[in-house]
Amino acid sequence: MTEPHAQALAQNEACLEKDLAGLAGRPVDAVVIGSGYGGSVAALRLAAARSEVVVLERGEEWHSGEFPDGLGKAFGQVRMRMPGSPDIQGNPQGLFEMRAGDGLAALVGNALGGTSQINANLLRKPDADTFQRYYKTDNGNQVSLWPALLREPGALDDYYDRARDMLGAQPLRGVFQGSRPNGEKLELNEWGSR
Ligand SMILES: Cc1cc2nc3c(=O)[nH]c(=O)nc-3n(C[C@H](O)[C@H](O)[C@H](O)COP(=O)(O)OP(=O)(O)OC[C@H]3O[C@@H](n4cnc5c(N)ncnc54)[C@H](O)[C@@H]3O)c2cc1C
Repeated sequence: MTEPHAQALAQNEACLEKDLAGLAGRPVDAVVIGSGYGGSVAALRLAAARSEVVVLERGEEWHSGEFPDGLGKAFGQVRMRMPGSPDIQGNPQGLFEMRAGDGLAALVGNALGGTSQINANLLRKPDADTFQRYYKTDNGNQVSLWPALLREPGALDDYYDRARDMLGAQPLRGVFQGSRPNGEKLELNEWGSR
C-alpha cells in the first residue's frame, strides 16, 4: 500500500481496488468493463438489484494527495495511442490518455472513476434544446439525435435532482468569470461536487 493510500484509509476514505486473484473461479452475474460515469452507474444499478457484479478497471485508484500537482509530474502520467497503432506510448498506467484518431483527438482519464478523475466536476443541465436536435440524412430527411422518451420536455428533470443529491453537489457561484470580446461581463454559475 502506498503512503497516500494509507493516509486515505486513516481519513476514512474507502480504498476500492480489490485483489483479482480473490475473484478467480467465483461466478458473477455481470462484468462491467470501465468505471467511469457509464460503467459505475450500470454497476451500481445491477448491484442494487442484488446481482453479483465485478467492475474491471484498467487504470489505477487515486486518492486525494496522490494526483500530479505540477506540469512535470503530469507529463509523466500521459499514455498515448496514435492512429492505426494498437501500441501504447508513454506511461501505460498514466492518469491521462491522449487518443489521436483520424481527424479527431480526445483526452480521457485512465483511472478508477474514469474521466471523472480528471474532469472539472461541474454538473450542468443540458440546454433546453439539446434533446430536440436532429441531423439531416443524404436524402434530406430530418432524424432526431435522441429517442422519443428523452425528447419529452422535462423527461429527465427528476434524474438531474437525483444525480445532484447522490453526488452531494453544491451551487458554485461565479465559477467562471470573464468578459466577452465586446466587454460584456460573463459569469457562469454551476453546480459542482467534490
Ligand atoms: C478535461 C475534461 C473536463 C471535463 N469536465 C466535465 C465536467 O466538469 N462535468 C461533466 O459532467 N463532464 C465533464 N467532462 C466529461 C466527462 O468527464 C465524460 O463525459 C465522462 O467521464 C464519460 O464517462 P464514461 O463512463 O463514458 O467514460 P470514462 O469516464 O472515460 O470511463 C471509461 C473507463 O473505462 C476504462 N477502460 C477503457 N478501456 C478499458 C479496458 N479495456 N479494460 C478496463 N477498463 C477500461 C478507462 O480507464 C476509464 O476508466 C470532462 C471531460 C474532460 C476530458
